[in-house]
Order: sequence, then structure tokens, then C-alpha cells
Amino acid sequence: MSVVQVDRVVKRYRLGEQDVVALKRVSLDIEEGVFMAIAGPSGSGKSSLLNLIGCIDEPSEGRILIDGQDVAGHTPDELADLRSRTIGFIFQTFNLLPVLTAAENVEYPMLRRADIDAAERSKRVKHYLEVVGLAQYANRRPNQLSGGQRQRVAIARALAIHPRIVLADEPTANLDRKTGDEILQLMRAINKQTGTTFIFSTHDKRVMAMSNRLVRIEDGEITILGIRNSSGWTYVNERRRNRGTAGEVQQ
Ligand code: ADP
Ligand code: MG
Repeated sequence: MSVVQVDRVVKRYRLGEQDVVALKRVSLDIEEGVFMAIAGPSGSGKSSLLNLIGCIDEPSEGRILIDGQDVAGHTPDELADLRSRTIGFIFQTFNLLPVLTAAENVEYPMLRRADIDAAERSKRVKHYLEVVGLAQYANRRPNQLSGGQRQRVAIARALAIHPRIVLADEPTANLDRKTGDEILQLMRAINKQTGTTFIFSTHDKRVMAMSNRLVRIEDGEITILGIRNSSGWTYVNERRRNRGTAGEVQQ
């Protein structure tokens, strides 16, 4: 079963008197373990899609299913619980808490989890700071770390809850090219080692070489879906396919 199903999702934002349609009946199945790049120009709907998959926003129409479960109709508290068990987030601007050390930032999302006791938390903090190569920076605050190091802390924080899915919204946008490449290679290595599903948005064409799923999004619509297997990439023209499906539904 797909770990994430996006089912005919529409997202509208109210902007003054106007409705902005950020996603137009988007459907997407995401299999467990993939390393999926969502590519598209600025304003095409990448962040909107990631926020919906991450249950930090709700669709205007359609459904989001995580592990086959519709996430609609849950209380904010239930959704926060679902997120804290299932989803790790990595943001473009790192979003670390400035008053906490690297170690405390990694620990923070685990505090919500009654099933992870203090001993287990400190074990995971140590382990994941090692995984991202920051063991010796555990006691530094974010403003004492470089951009690349901050993003590594954010990756450790996302992984420490043992998520099914890691969502990353343009994780390399604020990093120089070399550091960005290192961060992507780290994410890909973790994806291969642990089988954790990664879904990330990017402007960067180089990222495609590393991924095994590619979603091209333009003006709120998925236009191309790329799937890579051992013999290379296969592309599906989603616009054409969706027109076909819409026709069938109407009959
Ligand atoms: P991307 O991440 O690809 O740059 P977004 O998902 O952020 O795209 O935005 C898609 C569209 O929705 C854009 O036209 C943007 O201006 C609009 N949008 C995004 N968030 C809001 C919001 N909170 N209120 C109004 N419009 C928004
Ligand atoms: Mg965005």
C-alpha cells in the first residue's frame, strides 16, 4: 500500500476578495521508501502540497491518506500526535529553536512522545547527531553553527522520531552548492540505509539525478511523473492521464 495518497486534492487560499487556487485536483500515490523530488517554478504549489501531506494544513477538497487513513476530521491534537509519530520535517530556513542547543533541538519533538523515555531520548540525540556528523557540536546553539550545520541538526531532529516519512521543503535553497550537495547525499544515504520515505521540493535540476521519483508541478497541476527503476527513467504525462480520468468520472 502507498504510504501517502493524495486524492483529487484542491487547495484554495483566500487572499482579500480573491481565491487563489494553489492545487487543482492533484492526485499522487507515494510508495514507501522512495526518494521523491517535487520540482517546479516558484508559486507552482510545492509548499502547499508538502504542507498538506505533512498535515500542517487541510485540503479545500479531496483527501490525504497516510497509511491508508484519511487525515480529515481529526482534532489538532490528534494531528499533532500523528505528526509526532509519522512525519519528520526539514525546512528551507532550518526552523531550529534559537535558545536550544543542537542536542536540545533534536530532542524537542520526542518530548511529545510518551513512548520514548529520557534514556531513549538521549540515546537517539547522540546517535542522530553522529549520523549527521555533528557529535562534537551538541552543545552549540544555532547561531554558533553554519547554515549547513544547522540543516544537519534539522535532519537529525527529523530522523530522531523514527518517522515513516521525511518531508523537506527546498532543504538546500539557503545553502551554497557544495553544502547543498552534501546535505542531499546525506539524505539519500539515510533513505537507502533505513528505507525512510523522503519527499522534498526543489528548484535544483541536479537533485533529479539522485532521486527515484520525480513530480513536475506547474501552476497547481502535476504535469509529469517520473519513475526510475534499474533500466532508467519512465515518464508519465499526468496532464493527459488526468484528462482521461476526468472524462471517465463524468460518464
Ligand atoms: P511554491 O512552494 O511552489 O513556491 P506555494 O505552494 O507556496 O508554491 O504557492 C502556490 C500558490 O499559492 C502561489 O500562487 C502562492 O502565492 C499561493 N499561496 C501560498 N500560500 C498562500 C497563502 N497563505 N495565502 C494566499 N495565497 C497563498
Ligand atoms: Mg515553496
